[in-house]
Amino acid sequence: YAKANGRANYKFFTEPMKAAATRRLHLESELWRALADNQLVLHYQPQIDLLSGKVVGVEALVRWRHPTRGLIGPAEFIPVAEECGLILPLGHWVLLTACRQARSWIDQGIDMGEMAVNISAHQFRQPEFAQSVRAILAETGLDAGRLELEITESTIMHGVDAAITTMAELRGMGVRLAIDDFGTGYSSLAYLRRFPLDRLKIDRSFLADIDSDPDAASLLTSIVLLGRSLGLQLVAEGVENLAQAEFLRSLECERVQGFHFYQPASAEEVVGFGGFGLLAALPA
Ligand code: C2E
Ligand code: MG
Ligand code: MG
Ligand code: MG
Repeated sequence: YAKANGRANYKFFTEPMKAAATRRLHLESELWRALADNQLVLHYQPQIDLLSGKVVGVEALVRWRHPTRGLIGPAEFIPVAEECGLILPLGHWVLLTACRQARSWIDQGIDMGEMAVNISAHQFRQPEFAQSVRAILAETGLDAGRLELEITESTIMHGVDAAITTMAELRGMGVRLAIDDFGTGYSSLAYLRRFPLDRLKIDRSFLADIDSDPDAASLLTSIVLLGRSLGLQLVAEGVENLAQAEFLRSLECERVQGFHFYQPASAEEVVGFGGFGLLAALPA
């Protein structure tokens, strides 16, 4: 491009920029191959009910088992996938794999509660998104009530009416809906009331200084009260210590997720952690 504009503009395309663009293209093509070659894996992080201490859900978190670089986290490749269109097949793979895993646990008598799956904005806004969720549930035989979809504020705040239609269709099927990273996007509180939602996942940034900063503690309290007044369940993410867990318990926040309880881990490892309930054996 720089060259086509003639010699005068050549300098705009500096060596570091060229290097970055090349790296980026390389990452893109590697990522397409990763999906085709089964290099993506899901890890699962349990969610705990603060009253019973039991695992009541797990969140599926994608990782890339890179052939030479080892395990790569989603922050490094989800944004790239979103920009190059790969997020649609990748998102479909994640949803299918998570539902299969949930069904497999249930078949083994393991009660992991709900399987929560992150849905990117582009994926959610596909007109046939709700239908594709229905198809995956049918294909895997997973009960819709076992699936929770996590969407962000910006996903539903742009194009509110279309979002409400999709959400209502999903909820009509029995799928649960949660707002992820709540409080970090910009939500119109007036709209929030109109969305058919089940839960708010309070972003971990609101937990950061609650033991040292009274303002941080009262802000967190307000968010919990806001969620409750909207009739929503609350999940606090990024709980890293006992003080945070105890404060959340005092607020009667029902669910928590964080390194203080469990790290995200492979399907095999996470079951080994324990804390999962057992499903009653079915009569023969
Ligand atoms: P998220 O959905 O908010 O997921 C929670 C992130 O916080 C995860 O990072 C998790 O490992 C991390 N985390 C959990 N407990 C703690 C804690 O106590 N302290 C701290 N500091 N962090 C904690 P991860 O796995 O790196 O994922 C980052 C983000 O990537 C996710 O944020 C989500 O937005 C996105 N993501 C992950 N998997 C998928 C996916 O399958 N599809 C899409 N579209 N996005 C995904
Ligand atoms: Mg999430
Ligand atoms: Mg989050
Ligand atoms: Mg996030």
